[in-house]
Amino acid sequence: MPDIVQLLPDNIANQIAAGEVIQRPASAVKELMENAIDASASDIKLVIQDAGKSLVQVIDNGKGMGETDARMAFERHATSKIRNIEDLFLIRTMGFRGEALASIAAVAQVEMKTRKAENETGSFIEIENSKVVRQEPVACAPGTSIAMKNLFFNVPARRNFLKSNAAEMRHIVDEFIRIVLAFPSISFSLVSNGQELFHLEKNSLKQRIVQVLGTQFNARLVSVQEQTDYLTIYGFVGKPDTAKKTRGDQYFFVNNRFIRSAYLNHAVMSAYQDMIPSDSYPLYALFIDLDPSHVDINVHPTKQEIKFEDERIIYAFVQAAVKHALAQFSITPSLDFDLDPDIQRLDAVAKPFTEQRKSEITSSGLYQTFTQKNQAHLVEPSQDSDLRHWKKDNTGENELPSGISNMPVNRIPWDESSAEALAFRLDIPVIQLLNTYLVATTNTGFMLVHQQSAHERILYEKYLAALNGKRIAVQHSLFPVTIQLTAPDAILLGELIPDLHELGYLIEPFGKDSFIIQGTPADLDQGRETAVLEAVLEQFKHYSNNKLFSVREKLIRSMANQRAIKAGKSLMEDEMGKLLEGLFSCEQPNMSPDGKPTYWEFNQDQLQKIFNR
Ligand code: ADP
Ligand code: MG
Repeated sequence: MPDIVQLLPDNIANQIAAGEVIQRPASAVKELMENAIDASASDIKLVIQDAGKSLVQVIDNGKGMGETDARMAFERHATSKIRNIEDLFLIRTMGFRGEALASIAAVAQVEMKTRKAENETGSFIEIENSKVVRQEPVACAPGTSIAMKNLFFNVPARRNFLKSNAAEMRHIVDEFIRIVLAFPSISFSLVSNGQELFHLEKNSLKQRIVQVLGTQFNARLVSVQEQTDYLTIYGFVGKPDTAKKTRGDQYFFVNNRFIRSAYLNHAVMSAYQDMIPSDSYPLYALFIDLDPSHVDINVHPTKQEIKFEDERIIYAFVQAAVKHALAQFSITPSLDFDLDPDIQRLDAVAKPFTEQRKSEITSSGLYQTFTQKNQAHLVEPSQDSDLRHWKKDNTGENELPSGISNMPVNRIPWDESSAEALAFRLDIPVIQLLNTYLVATTNTGFMLVHQQSAHERILYEKYLAALNGKRIAVQHSLFPVTIQLTAPDAILLGELIPDLHELGYLIEPFGKDSFIIQGTPADLDQGRETAVLEAVLEQFKHYSNNKLFSVREKLIRSMANQRAIKAGKSLMEDEMGKLLEGLFSCEQPNMSPDGKPTYWEFNQDQLQKIFNR
């Protein structure tokens, strides 16, 4: 019997290897554009014919290649970007495997013109089936133009595997968008079948996002910006009202490279908790920068998946940063529902990110928590938090640290300087409108407060403090009442007894599924104990599937919700005064625990603009 093991011919080996890198025209778009970026181009043109099936061409004004490099570049493992294995872990350029051009050359016909600025002539090179068929000097502009023609002309099985032009074009545009968002300082264009689809001048990130994703986002982006020694996050998220029913327009970049991460996506979505309907998706384009040695980008051939050294830190950080940004923006909730575009352009509505605002943000609590303490691992919560016990279990990636909402980042300190401007005047009577809204005069205008949302906020913070040591006194009842529950409710209440005690309720088990209420907080009217507890349990169950909230968080939210003054209740003057004072002594007075605005502020400038004065 002759031996049967043979080496594959080079061209077949190349084609097989190429399949990993070049799966469709969009893969070539990505690789060629990334090479142009790595070559420091400031202007990059993408030309497509036939959804990339007959032509993908990238023309850049980057540093170009000399004659030898032009040839070498198409060899497998030819790269100018790494020299040794350590470099692989410190990579800051886009490409690094030295496989892209070799792969393209194995599965398409390639023509390249390239010239270094300092050379008088450039090189032209033509390659087919990984073989150079022509190389000669050529007159051309500095930079590089690479044309990939007839993808998979030599691998019919793969060519047949390509999708419809519409589908392939969609992939190309997706790839193009991911790249142009990450490099707003580079100008780009995309021409498909002779028609210019994108023409993007160099711009700010915000304007690039608007150019690419649509002008409807113009006044609807909130800046995210947080920095620590470990990592930086910046970018934009859409205001809650931009959330759409379809996914898309959601982008994460790590060290300027687009990545997919269901886990980090969850972090962003959780920051929007209760601000958007559960089946809708907000826009975001977030950039995380960190030392490349803390990430492993190279885990997937198309380099869109990533491993972080400590995912949970990144999760907590992303969530906190987005929450922070959203809270900042809702200090003056935006007016832009259906308003006139002129009004939408008002400062308070559009909220441009000024230097002053930037310094406000950098002096704010979250920023300080992260930077002062210096290391992101301090994000780890205190002793008794659930997060300490959280382990990634085999239910998979999307399981969340249940204590994450207990983290200090949840409560953003109220900025004193804005409190100053907002100070409401107690010497001028507060008015109640529609038994729901309070109108209070401020130093610069007036504010409109929603009594229920405001009271929910006040109670939430009071209960939170109670669970953190400032317990609420129990007033012992002269005639304790009993409460009879269903078996599941009895189990639930039994678990809540210790926390309820901190909140001023003294409850003891009293036979099967019954409890005796020995005491309640002083402010609770006698006779309402059982009704309140039943309502709290009911509300608690509404949160039962919520993995983000700890038991305690659910309890205080339920309690705040149930005990708050409701809309529709007429209030006495002193009650209104107390409510306003209470609200503005809160750490985060601008929204209710579930993210609804507590007040709107109207200052003189805004009023004048509204009246065209
Ligand atoms: P990698 O990008 O991983 O190094 P590629 O196969 O994509 O591998 O490219 C090989 C080499 O060719 C690059 O390292 C670079 O030196 C050179 N090169 C590719 N494209 C360009 C370009 N547009 N401008 C200048 N040099 C380029
Ligand atoms: Mg490359």
